Amino acid sequence: MSNSAILVIYTGGTIGMKAHPVTGELVPFRFEHVLEEVPELRKFGYRIDTYSFDPVIDSSDIFPDFWVKLALLIGEQYPYYNGFVILHGTDTMSYTASALSFMLENLEKPVILTGSQLPIGLPRTDGKENFISAVEIAAAVDPDGHALVPEVCIFFQDELFRGNRTFKYNAEEFRAFRSPNYPPLAEAGIQIKYNRKFIRYPATWGKQLHVHTKLGTDIAILKIFPGIERKVVETILAIPGLRALILETYGQGNAPTVKWLLDLISAAVSRGIIVVNITQCPAGSVSMESYACGMRLKEIGVLSGYDMTTEAAVTKIMLLTGQYAENKEVRYFLSQPLNGEF
Ligand code: ASP
Repeated sequence: MSNSAILVIYTGGTIGMKAHPVTGELVPFRFEHVLEEVPELRKFGYRIDTYSFDPVIDSSDIFPDFWVKLALLIGEQYPYYNGFVILHGTDTMSYTASALSFMLENLEKPVILTGSQLPIGLPRTDGKENFISAVEIAAAVDPDGHALVPEVCIFFQDELFRGNRTFKYNAEEFRAFRSPNYPPLAEAGIQIKYNRKFIRYPATWGKQLHVHTKLGTDIAILKIFPGIERKVVETILAIPGLRALILETYGQGNAPTVKWLLDLISAAVSRGIIVVNITQCPAGSVSMESYACGMRLKEIGVLSGYDMTTEAAVTKIMLLTGQYAENKEVRYFLSQPLNGEF
């Protein structure tokens, strides 16, 4: 739609770097001049406004307070734009996409995160393709004028994924993100093909966007490995104020059946610590009924995280523990998909 208005939000990361004309050093480019850097964008005929965080940050420096700023910015600007593109470092992009998917309730417009493995100012950059396609997707509407992808997504190397299904898979290749448990929402070739049956659409359009800003951070991740020491588990579970533990288990949700481990977890659950089981495998789901060792975890009150990524589990638990003081509600909503995350 050529009269679309898109807000491009620049947070930092590799994509926004270009070589300094004199020193050759990679420096962030002046973002207000984005149309000069990527003149191809003009051809769409959209109104493209920009907002740059100041200072811009490497995404390794992102903390939840940054997600709050980002969500509030989208909330403020929501009435004025058809879609949003967030340029973001790749390292924690999946965490940000997952967090926003939970924080922006009733979202009906595209929020597309992208970035690049090579700075936009370098000749072989993947940044331009990613950026230009993300803008096109953010502006795409159906014949009724509704967004084709009213979700928080990551576009990277020709594929559009539901953000809360992704993780950064490759530190070097252009195809940096994967979503093994959910198919791409769109694929960019000569045309951008939308897989509409996999995209979440609101049951009724026109709901008010609700921005959640309270995030709890009293959580920890414990990755099980052969030989894990009792003192490690004990120490983590004794963290003062700990509200939730994400247990990264083997395969379909299995952990060693040694008594001390089960006793420690069981005691933590009785003290009110929420324990969620997700798998260390990049693909597939936890199914605690499949093996005796998974069954034991279920019996002592560990919750299934189904096929959630670590990124989705962390941010969903942050949202729920920020929102609810009572564990009953947190446990209830953990067992329901909020935004297609499992
Ligand atoms: N360290 C960078 C970041 O995440 C890497 C990148 O942008 O790809 O901000």
